[in-house]
Amino acid sequence: MMISEKMCDKLNEQLAVEFAASHAYLAMTCEFERLGLKILATRFIEQHNEEREHAMKILHYIQEVGGDVTVGAIPKPRTDFADAKAIVQAALESEENVTRSINDLVGLAEAENDYATRSFLNWFVDEQVEEVSSMNSLLALVRLAGENMLQVESRVRHEMMAKG
Ligand code: MG
Repeated sequence: MMISEKMCDKLNEQLAVEFAASHAYLAMTCEFERLGLKILATRFIEQHNEEREHAMKILHYIQEVGGDVTVGAIPKPRTDFADAKAIVQAALESEENVTRSINDLVGLAEAENDYATRSFLNWFVDEQVEEVSSMNSLLALVRLAGENMLQVESRVRHEMMAKG
């Protein structure tokens, strides 16, 4: 195995974190659907898919460096959101937590002089900047719109079309 036992355990933990994030976004998607916010639901199902891709990236890396993958349990996600703003707030907090756990992994890789894992994690460091930034923007937009969630829907739809 090209990484330490400890690093392998931590990467497996991160694998579970990414799957949990994917699952949480799925639950949030259903809440947006329930509220009739179809565009936000579409935006969040994309997040759900992305988080699964993140998990698969980690899974393949563990295999590539000769580690054993442990597919653990996924906790039941929250669904007790008061409104759309609470959902976006929870998504932002979740992304901030993911950023912290990625940073912890980077710290471990550096402490162990594990340059391969450090290099692998760079993509995740950059990705988290984007995730936290875009969720911050969405929260600002929801706050600005107040009760008028249809304006949020319209803006998000526009942004998604611009992105392609
Ligand atoms: Mg992720």
